[in-house]
Amino acid sequence: MTDGKGRIIDYIRVSLTDRCNLRCVYCMPAQGVEPEPYENLLTLEEITRVCAAAARLGISKVKLTGGEPLVRKGCAALVGMLKAIPGIREVTMTTNGVLLPRELPALVENGLDAVNISLDTLDPETFRTLTRCSMEEDVRKAIRRAVEAGIRVKVNAIPIEEYNGQSLGELAALAKDQPLDVRFIELMPIGEGKHLTPIGNEEVRRRLEADYGPMTPWEGKRGNGPAVYYSLPGFTGKLGFISAISHEFCGECNRVRLTSTGFLKLCLHYNDGIPLRELLRTGAGEEELAGVIQEAIQKKPLHHNFGGCETPDMDHHTMSQIGG
Ligand code: SAM
Ligand code: SF4
Repeated sequence: MTDGKGRIIDYIRVSLTDRCNLRCVYCMPAQGVEPEPYENLLTLEEITRVCAAAARLGISKVKLTGGEPLVRKGCAALVGMLKAIPGIREVTMTTNGVLLPRELPALVENGLDAVNISLDTLDPETFRTLTRCSMEEDVRKAIRRAVEAGIRVKVNAIPIEEYNGQSLGELAALAKDQPLDVRFIELMPIGEGKHLTPIGNEEVRRRLEADYGPMTPWEGKRGNGPAVYYSLPGFTGKLGFISAISHEFCGECNRVRLTSTGFLKLCLHYNDGIPLRELLRTGAGEEELAGVIQEAIQKKPLHHNFGGCETPDMDHHTMSQIGG
């Protein structure tokens, strides 16, 4: 389907929970955020109903996110439920990887197509200060296991001067000998992310080229999003750059978001959207849901306004509540 501005919308990011087993400094405060009562979270069956309605409208790709999606029980079963929906071609997940070694076999068996694993540093000490937890070895294991399982793997890192500014080359090197892509995502000034020093992707590329020599733009398509990819000589995987701040790509935005409490969110930056939970719980059928979703998508904002002044319609949730 297209939105009110003619953009094709074929992708939904579904947050399964606002809870997380890490406390990344750019995403969550140290004490966490007040969790939503369990009864406010959509059930797996309700999530499946929303995705089935969205699939009727042409949404064909679902990304499971959180909080940390794998702290939600039944994640693998949900993958199977979503893959069974006519029209859903791809179900993928973004995870911090901590629980992935344990959950991966069931996820793959149920049809998970690809996984994005967030990892911002390979240094155990920096990992501890950045995530306020010490499970770096589990994340490294998750990456190895996901590659071995034969699904598409991307490692996502946020370049932040205070934490990994001097070690971006080590992260990139994960793509040297393994068939995975490493992507650098510009820090967005949302919630906790406002207090840190982002490194723009032009500068990240400059630092990586100082380590590895010139990169070559790679024209192929890899996944659902706006990443721009480059090859490096001798590297098995590609390096990707998602530059939401320095090169706004809202004109090609193809996505909507469903929060764990059932709010259909039209843009990461704004609180525009429509609550679906009550509709789901008062027995709305797939056709009715599809109608409501279609109408909402027509009002999707044209672009974010991260550099602009504060306005009442800006979203003040943390990234863990929104789902990234
Ligand atoms: N817990 C999972 C994970 O970390 O992959 C899924 C949820 S997390 C909110 C999704 C993505 O959002 C992660 O890759 C994380 O690095 C990213 N993220 C969190 N806060 C961000 C910020 N302020 N700017 C840019 N990306 C952010
Ligand atoms: Fe948790 Fe992901 Fe946020 Fe880190 S980025 S605190 S892993 S939700």
